Amino acid sequence: MRCRFGRLLAAAALACAAGPASAWTDHTLVARPALAAMPELKAVPAIKAETLEAFLAAEAPGLEQLLQREEAWARAQLALYPPRPEALAFKAGGAPAELRRRFIAALRINPGLPLKLFVQALPGASVSGKSALPWTEVTTRRRESSAQESVFLQLRAGDAVAPLDVIATATDEPDYGMDIGLWQDNGTAYGKTYGFGKQPFGNPALEFASQAPFHMGFFHEHPIVYKAAGFLQRTYPEYCIHLWQSLAAYALQTGRPYWGWRFAGWALHYLEDLTQPYHASVLPGVSVTHLLWINAADLLGWHQPKKQAIILVSNRHLALENYQYRRMRSAYLRHDDSDALIRAAEDLSTDAGREAFPDDAVRARISLESSSLARATDSVLELSLPAKYVSDPAYILGETEPGVDIYRVLDQSPPEARAAMTGIVGGLQRNFGAYTRAFVRSLLARAQPSPQR
Ligand SMILES: [Zn+2]
Repeated sequence: MRCRFGRLLAAAALACAAGPASAWTDHTLVARPALAAMPELKAVPAIKAETLEAFLAAEAPGLEQLLQREEAWARAQLALYPPRPEALAFKAGGAPAELRRRFIAALRINPGLPLKLFVQALPGASVSGKSALPWTEVTTRRRESSAQESVFLQLRAGDAVAPLDVIATATDEPDYGMDIGLWQDNGTAYGKTYGFGKQPFGNPALEFASQAPFHMGFFHEHPIVYKAAGFLQRTYPEYCIHLWQSLAAYALQTGRPYWGWRFAGWALHYLEDLTQPYHASVLPGVSVTHLLWINAADLLGWHQPKKQAIILVSNRHLALENYQYRRMRSAYLRHDDSDALIRAAEDLSTDAGREAFPDDAVRARISLESSSLARATDSVLELSLPAKYVSDPAYILGETEPGVDIYRVLDQSPPEARAAMTGIVGGLQRNFGAYTRAFVRSLLARAQPSPQR
């Protein structure tokens, strides 16, 4: 029974992670208004873009020690953390290309990520006179990436750039292939050396599914779910956030602000992913009792309920992201800053009490809040969108009809349905914005350059 139940959950998680779902599609669209609302960030003067090689050449000895402390922290604080093999420990010294190779290996990310210098322009922004960087030069992904619709502007080393542009751009970067192929069974040479073990859930042969255990956090499931499917506890957003947060603080303290803000954006990506309820809950809207019933039916040879539950959860997950992305993109293209989702991202009204970002914030606050909103979110989607998209297991969102735009679909729906969607998604965007700012405030407090420098 355990095995079958586990497989059900594995399949469900796969369904959530196999499509174009990337929690929020294009984090920059939300992070930018969220961060622009912070006077303390706007007040930070322009900085100079710096290549990764220059940063490493200047800071290698300090980074060697920092990454050692970081590894010790992860081993001591994170249950089920797969330790970084000693052979990958970062060592200072050597030529720039070799330093870069060793740094990427110590961070255990996809070595194919180009890590060029660029900023993302918002949809509809004027970019005349600036040189664009093709989307294929920022991401390793070639299919189902929102980067294909984004505009990237090239930076050269030494160019002046606003910290807000650097950090808002970097919030989307972990979806550009950074965490793809890291497991030993992904068929990549680097995955075999990284020591993360086998991919905990999802199909290891599907490129995008391999990043899911880093971008999802199942911390608040019913104990029976963990008992049956312990692999669901192997999700690692806390590890990613802490690593990038420590590097960001280090770079800011040592006077390397470009990489400080870029690492900060990477940390933000994972905490923002967890404000998406389908990334913080395995099967929103499916009660444990119903899950057990579905599983019992499956065991008796009636597989249909299981298949259907998985498709419905996946379709709702995708419908939420499609609606949010299409609506925000459309607002930017119309230059309509008054759209409720943009307003929600920049709304400071719930920021009080969220100034700090303690180590347990990811688990005890963000994903707890998000998973507790999962059921309500699921039910608003079910009630507000036409049944075809969210309640018909014969329909696969994004495949049955390619190019579907759920925001436009909702135009034909009654005003109450539109209001319900604005309400629930606006609330999620408010959380996204508030936690994004809490993280940046805590970083600014830590980021004073150290006096000995
Ligand atoms: Zn993500």
